[in-house]
This record gives sequence, C-alpha cells and structure tokens, in this order.
Amino acid sequence: MSHNYQQELEVGLAAVRTASKICQSVQSGITPAALEKKDRSPVTIADFASQAVVCREIRTAFSDPIIGEEGSAELRADDGAEFLQRVVAEVTGSGIDASGEQICDWIDEGSAKDYSDRFWTLDPIDGTKGFLRGEQYAVALALVVNGKVDVGLVACPNLADVGGEQGTICVAVRGQGAWTVPLSGGDSTPAKVTTTTDSSTARFCESVESGHSSHGHSAQIAEILGMTADSVRLDSQAKYAVVGRGEADIYLRLPTRPGYREKIWDHAGGVLFCEEAGATVTDIAGKPLEFTHGFELVANRGVVVTNGPLHEAVLAAVKQVGIE
Ligand code: AMP
Ligand code: MG
Repeated sequence: MSHNYQQELEVGLAAVRTASKICQSVQSGITPAALEKKDRSPVTIADFASQAVVCREIRTAFSDPIIGEEGSAELRADDGAEFLQRVVAEVTGSGIDASGEQICDWIDEGSAKDYSDRFWTLDPIDGTKGFLRGEQYAVALALVVNGKVDVGLVACPNLADVGGEQGTICVAVRGQGAWTVPLSGGDSTPAKVTTTTDSSTARFCESVESGHSSHGHSAQIAEILGMTADSVRLDSQAKYAVVGRGEADIYLRLPTRPGYREKIWDHAGGVLFCEEAGATVTDIAGKPLEFTHGFELVANRGVVVTNGPLHEAVLAAVKQVGIE
C-alpha cells in the first residue's frame, strides 16, 4: 500500500529545522583562534545537540528505531560534564527545556544499529569538517521502510535555496518526487536532474576530503570521459542537493581503502532526493545500494550518482581506472 507520509514529513521537517538552528548558532560562534587550534569542540557540541533534538521530535510521534551516528557515552563519562553543560545550553537556547540526563536519553534513542522493517537514520551533522571550516554541512534524516528509503530530509543550512536565500532543505518521498524548501520556510520548488548526454560537457562533484573519496581516481575518470570542467568540491550530502537540483551531473564517491563501508546516514536521504529528481544511483560496481544491513552499506562499495543518461559511461570509466 502506498503511503503519503504526511506526518513523517511534518515531524521530520520540524526536527531538521530545529537542529539546523542549533548548528547555525554554534557555527557562528567558531572563532579563528579555535580553528587555528583545530578545536573540535563546537562540532561535538552541535552534533550531540542536533541528535538530541531530532530524536526528541521523532519520539513525540513515532516509536520506530533510530540509527543515528552518535551515542551519549562521551557525555555521561566523568570528564564529559563540561561538554554536557554546553550541549544543555544549546538545546535550551533553542527553546527546548531539558536536563542533561534527558538530553543523554534523547541522544541514546538514536543508538540503534540493526536493520528493522521500519527505521529512521540520522546524521546530526554530516560533513563535520565543512562545519568547522564554516562551509557546507547537513542535518540528514531518512525513513527506511522494508529496506527502501521512503522519506528523505536533508537540511543544508549553508547552501542557498533555489530562490537565493541561505539555507535549503532537500525533501523527497518515494513515488511523490523531490523538492526543495527554504530552511526558513516558504514555497517548495520541484527538483530535477540535468538532461546532459555528452559526458565531455558534464560537471561532477565530490568530497572536499581526499580521505573520503579518491581525488586521484576521479581525475582519471574525468579524463577518460573528456570532462574539462573543474569538479565541484563540497562537504556533506550537499553534493546530493547539487546533483538533484541539476547544478552538477555526477557525484562520485570513490573508495580510498578496501575495508571501508559507507554509513547509511551519509547517504539515505540524499539518495532518495536524487532518485526522485530523476537520478540513477548505484555503487561503483553498478549495484543498487542496499539499506538492509544495519548501519553500513556492507554489500556496496562507494557511490556513483548520475543524471541517468550518463550512468553507463561513468560506470565504464570507473571500471577502467580499476579501484581496489
Ligand atoms: P564528506 O562530507 O562527503 O567528505 O563525507 C563525510 C562523511 O564521510 C562522514 O560523515 C564520515 O562518515 C564519512 N567517512 C569517514 N571516513 C570515510 C572514508 N574513508 N571513506 C568514505 N567516507 C568516509
Ligand atoms: Mg556524515
């Protein structure tokens, strides 16, 4: 039976909006001195606060398991008290009154690891390195039902909405399409991938971090396909936003080492957004992504997203470069 997921959308949107506000507030407080010292505490605090408020919001309406990236152990440890106080301050600052204990409990609502027939997956801050640099990051939430991502919500607070305002949310429901809505509210705009068929004119995006996706291999693939445009480098699932909105044709996530398995929370929401916008999404071997194995995409390696017409050529080029 098809489902319109109206309540899931409303609850999810409210959740990612509240979390984004907290992230924006924390990010605006990052000083050049803290950056210089490579102080990771702002991202840690925003990460925990974001997971707490999203899990709290989901729990008000649903009892589904939530596979989130964080757990509260670090905050509950003896030396975590100061951090916890800073998380409490951010959560209460967003208008939600809560004790440290309550916040830890909400965070742990997101500590499921195993597959079930209906679960949510959450990356409270995807692209932590981008967050610290003051660049792109995302609050990424998705609902997986019977192994299929059915609802995706990817808030990108630093990515302009199609109307030009700062902050956009990529939304998708299986069978109902993909659209974006300004983070601060307003009308939604349907999302559609490009119609590019000539790979030499295509534009691809990839991670800023060469440790997360091989830049060497992507450069070789670009050469094989005759692509001359510079790659668009972005942190987080903002890459899915860019391809789904038709601003780039391809997203390459190419393994940097044999043992790494992609985490579902880094992809679920963005994958559905792109698919509903008309994209084709597979792993580097051309296999569909399998969200049926718990928190990792154990049956897949890497991710290749294209506008559709370019997929075969891109996969052939990936094969030709021979990624280990
Ligand atoms: P991005 O912002 O696209 O660079 O991706 C950020 C995500 O990369 C993080 O949320 C991590 O879960 C994930 N990550 C960490 N190590 C690796 C790796 N070796 N390969 C691919 N992704 C990774
Ligand atoms: Mg992530």
